[in-house]
Amino acid sequence: MLDLTYDSPDPKVIAGDTGPWEIVIGLEVHAQVASASKLFSDASTEFGAEPNSNVSFVDAAMPGMLPVINEFCVAQAVRTGLGLNAKVNLVSAFDRKNYFYPDLPQGYQISQLYHPIVGEGEVLVDLAPGIARKVRIERIHLEQDAGKSIHDMDPESSFVDLNRTGVALMEIVSRPDVRGPEEAAAYVGKLRQILRYLGTCDGNMQNGNLRADVNISVCRPGDHEAFLASGDHDVLGTRCEVKNMNSMRFIQQAIEFEARRQIRILEDGGSVEQETRLYDPEKGETRSMRSKEEAHDYRYFPCPDLLPLEIERSWVDAIKDSLPELPDAKKARFVTEYGMTEYDAGVLTADVDSAAYFEEVAKGRDGKSAANWVINELFGRLRRHDLEISDSPVSAAQLGTILDLIGKGDISGKIAKELFDIVWSDGGDPAELVESRGMKQVTDTGAIEEAVNKVMDDNPDQAMKARDNPKLAGWFVGQVMKATDGKANPKVVNELVKKRLGL
Ligand code: ADP
Ligand code: MG
Repeated sequence: MLDLTYDSPDPKVIAGDTGPWEIVIGLEVHAQVASASKLFSDASTEFGAEPNSNVSFVDAAMPGMLPVINEFCVAQAVRTGLGLNAKVNLVSAFDRKNYFYPDLPQGYQISQLYHPIVGEGEVLVDLAPGIARKVRIERIHLEQDAGKSIHDMDPESSFVDLNRTGVALMEIVSRPDVRGPEEAAAYVGKLRQILRYLGTCDGNMQNGNLRADVNISVCRPGDHEAFLASGDHDVLGTRCEVKNMNSMRFIQQAIEFEARRQIRILEDGGSVEQETRLYDPEKGETRSMRSKEEAHDYRYFPCPDLLPLEIERSWVDAIKDSLPELPDAKKARFVTEYGMTEYDAGVLTADVDSAAYFEEVAKGRDGKSAANWVINELFGRLRRHDLEISDSPVSAAQLGTILDLIGKGDISGKIAKELFDIVWSDGGDPAELVESRGMKQVTDTGAIEEAVNKVMDDNPDQAMKARDNPKLAGWFVGQVMKATDGKANPKVVNELVKKRLGL
């Protein structure tokens, strides 16, 4: 087992006029539950459907309609909680969060304020090999998503699309344990990775499938340590919340801007107002949206349409038994089982499909060279062609056969790359291709000796020099390889060249 006790990395420090400041960040990530139907209705959650085509009477808040909890969404939230090493609450309850907005026909959002379905958990955020930040999860609650107001289709009117209304969201709330822009992005990335492994959220940020509200404050060095030791929020600075970010890059830019803005205010002797802000990617700045609202502004109260949600311990245990191997465990296993670096293990376990592909290639073969081929040849090429591993033109079985051909000495590493190219563009069985295209490595000493003799005879001056300067032998090896179209076994060529030169 890999040692998962990580070093504590240095906090992100930004220097201001009157000295250094530390950034403190807590995130509220909204992850859309991967589910065919909505949280309280049977309407479809399909993305990109005709506007207002996936709206049931419940979603449209028609009078007398009652919400009915979707068991699958509850199971997904539980699964997520278990995947984040969190406490699952056997009793939770739904509350109404009241506010008016055209894309919210009910006039309230059904959420879980007082009794969330999942309590405290934690995520290890990898910062560098061997270095990770432990970010504590405060809670995960289930809630409805709102619809979409559209203001840019017509100069006179606004439109509303209720397809998203009532889709299940998991709000994953972290403690303020994150300490810089890169770390915040890495945290969201790690969450997304775990959710995808679990199959509880697609994590497609572009489609708004995963979005984050980012809370940012600044404090003096040491204050955050003091907060971690005491749990006392008062030693931290006042925070601002930047809403609804759906890009890793914007998250980083917004934090960078917001931290500097707050430092400037503090160094001018002012104080930071707690408020909700929006990030404008075009201007690269955050601007005020509204002053911070408190829970009482929303007149939260228990939703009278829904009973408290009670789940069985045995049901939770069954979900637990069905969890897949998660990223941290898989990565640790790859390091020990295949003897690869933590970095390579991280690359190969970035998503489940890549990890499975690698394991199929590595099965019964040398793990390190399998890792090399998958990472350097395959991933490099997939990236250049903008392809997913599931669309790879070279299957794991084909790549495995190529490795076997190298292992048997049938082809050299160099020829193997050419073979890989052919399989990539034309397909086919690599072993048959080697035969039919005459790519087999020449190990027949007689044939190689002939080629060596010819090169020596053609270059008598070079041969004389090489006798006195063994370094020049490499030139002959190169010439012989060229003369044999790269098919001569390089080891044999090397030996014969040296023998011929009397080295
Ligand atoms: P509220 O319920 O008033 O919105 P919470 O305590 O639930 O406040 O925190 C909301 C989010 O803000 C959490 O993700 C938390 O980690 C984060 N947060 C709280 N205090 C700070 C702070 N001083 N700096 C940065 N983030 C913070
Ligand atoms: Mg809160």
